[in-house]
Amino acid sequence: MDTKYLSQRLLSWFDQHGRKTLPWQHNPTPYRVWISEVMLQQTQVATVIPYYQRFMARFPDIKTLAEAELDEVLSHWSGLGYYARGRNLHAAAKIIQADHAGTFPYQLSQVVALPGIGRSTAGAILSLSTSARHTILDGNVKRVLARCFVIEGWPGKSSVEKAMWQLAEQLTPNKRVANYNQAIMDLGATCCTRSKPQCDSCPLATCCGALEQGQVETLPTAKPRKKIPVRTTQMLLIRNMQGEVLLEKRPPTGIWGGLWSLPEVAQGEATECWCEENLGLKVASLEEWPLRRHTFSHFHLDITPQLLQLKSNPTQINEAGRHVWYKMQQTHGLAAPVARLIEELSRREP
Ligand code: SF4
Repeated sequence: MDTKYLSQRLLSWFDQHGRKTLPWQHNPTPYRVWISEVMLQQTQVATVIPYYQRFMARFPDIKTLAEAELDEVLSHWSGLGYYARGRNLHAAAKIIQADHAGTFPYQLSQVVALPGIGRSTAGAILSLSTSARHTILDGNVKRVLARCFVIEGWPGKSSVEKAMWQLAEQLTPNKRVANYNQAIMDLGATCCTRSKPQCDSCPLATCCGALEQGQVETLPTAKPRKKIPVRTTQMLLIRNMQGEVLLEKRPPTGIWGGLWSLPEVAQGEATECWCEENLGLKVASLEEWPLRRHTFSHFHLDITPQLLQLKSNPTQINEAGRHVWYKMQQTHGLAAPVARLIEELSRREP
C-alpha cells in the first residue's frame, strides 16, 4: 500500500470526523498534552475529562505540580486508578523543574528519560504540542496497523513491535503530523475498535488487508497464553469390603481447601507400601486407570487414579478425623476431579 495514500485518507477523515474540541486540544502546550496522555493511558476519554479539568485547575503548570505535596497530587488522581501514573507525573515534574529549568524538554530522548513516559507517549506529547515529526505506536495504532497490513504475531512481542515501529515511521507524514497522529489514535479508539469494528464507515476499508482477507476478528494476534507447568499425582480409590471409598480432608487453605479428596501418593512411589506405612491398610489388588488432566489457573495436574481393594476391613486408620469411609451417593464436599472419579467408579458397579 502507498503510505501516502493511507495518511491522506486518515487526514481527510480527521477533517470530517476527528476529535478537535477535547480540553487538552485547546492551547496544547507540552505540559497540558502530557497530563492528558498520561491520564488517557488506561482510561477512556469521557472519564478523563472531569479529572483533567480538576487537575489543571489545581496544577496549571509544571512548577505548581512539582511544588505540590504528593498526597495532594494523588488525591486529584483518586478514582482514576493506576496510581503509579500520578506518582510518576509528580516525580517527572520535579525532574523537569530541577534539570530543565522548569521547561518541558523538546528532545525525544530527554522526554523518554522522564518517569512514566514511554516512546509512544513521548512522540504523542511532542507531536501534538509542537507539530514536530514524531511517530506514535500506542495500542490503538497497533490494532489499526495489524489489521490494515495483516501483521501476524502478538504486538507485544519485540520482533513484531519493532516491525510495527518501522512501518509507523514510514507512514508518519512530514506535514500535519499532529493531525495525523490524532487521526490514527482516534480511528483506533472510535472506529477500528477491538470488538465490533465499524468497517462500513472506516476510511481505510478500501485498503485494509484484514477486511479483504476476512481476518478482522483474528487480528491483532492475541497474547499467547503462558505455558503453565504440569504436576503429577496418584490418587487412590481405596475400597473396603463394603465397597466404601476412603476420603481424606484437605487442609483448610490451598488447593481444594477444606474439601474431601482422595489420599495421594507421589508419582513413582510404591502404593501398597505407602498405604501400609501411612494408613495401616493392607492392599489385596491394585488397578491403575488411565491418566486424566485437571487444569488450575496456574498449573495442570495430571492424575493417575489407582483403584485399591483391601485384604480385610480395617479396624482403624491413622489420623482419625481426617479420614472417612464414603458410601456412594452420600453428600460430601468433594473436589471436582474426585467427584468425577467416584462417579466413574459407581458406574462400574454391577
Ligand atoms: S476496515 Fe475495519 S479492520 Fe480495517 S482498519 Fe478499518 S475498521 Fe479496522
